Amino acid sequence: MDHIVYYTTTILLLSVVAFIILERKFPYTKGLKVFREGFWVDLIWYTLIQSYFLKILIFDYIITPIDNHYHLSSLKLVYNWPIALQLLFFLVTHDFYIYWFHRWQHHSKLLWRTHEAHHSNKEVDWLAGTRSHSIEILINQTIEFAPIILLGANPIIVPIKALIDAVWGMYIHSNLNVKTGKWQYFINGPEMHQWHHADQREVFFANYSTKFAIWDWLFGTAFLPNRKPHRFGLYYNYPKDYFLQHIFAIKKVDEEKLVNKSKAFRFYYNLRPNILKFFSKKNTDITSTPREEKFENVPEETFAEHLK
Ligand SMILES: [Zn+2]
Ligand SMILES: [Zn+2]
Repeated sequence: MDHIVYYTTTILLLSVVAFIILERKFPYTKGLKVFREGFWVDLIWYTLIQSYFLKILIFDYIITPIDNHYHLSSLKLVYNWPIALQLLFFLVTHDFYIYWFHRWQHHSKLLWRTHEAHHSNKEVDWLAGTRSHSIEILINQTIEFAPIILLGANPIIVPIKALIDAVWGMYIHSNLNVKTGKWQYFINGPEMHQWHHADQREVFFANYSTKFAIWDWLFGTAFLPNRKPHRFGLYYNYPKDYFLQHIFAIKKVDEEKLVNKSKAFRFYYNLRPNILKFFSKKNTDITSTPREEKFENVPEETFAEHLK
């Protein structure tokens, strides 16, 4: 088992390097920097810290206690299936679930609060997909991994599936100008998912698929024009700080007001940029980003109409 994790981690790290290099060579949106706005929040908070704690919570405090109570995994219901079939089964069933849950998140005011963080990056690249509210991850990964454990799948399915999730997630968000032709009916990629992150009316309710694009084509939500989006992210103000992004789901906080009002918060908020500034001797104060531009050319019929 240990050597599987060693292989999956190596493949994951090599994939990261490959995506960074490929994004420089074949960009979907030209001029996007590796260290784009929000890069460190996505890497440190969402990818490393949040996923570390959620993994413990989901596996050790939710799935294992359920299994200890019902002893379902000991029935080994799918254990004797070929590994490839087990993997395909869990990939397809979870992807089908995630299509509908994702679609529901875009239509429900309440569930949108768990999903808006994912749409908040103004620049979308290989790392942008990792930005997901912990409630969203908690729901989706529990529903993803509980059946694998409870149906008694081969234990190697967990790290393999986690690797496929990570690499496919990087691929669909990547700033890569791929043209997959007819494959885009089946295999989802940046051609459709970059559009899903656009702040444009045409895609407010489109392209919900994650791995298999076929769900969008089957259920009438596919959007694949022969052009590219010109704006990404949310049209409304959204915090840049990880903790405020989490609080935002419960209470709409005004980050700028908080920075101006609270000295302690201002100190915390500027700590990371100040450390970076200290090392790079460059002005990286994130509070200095002009915010007014976000409200220019907001389409009349906005994505958040249904949220009011
Ligand atoms: Zn979405
Ligand atoms: Zn996404």
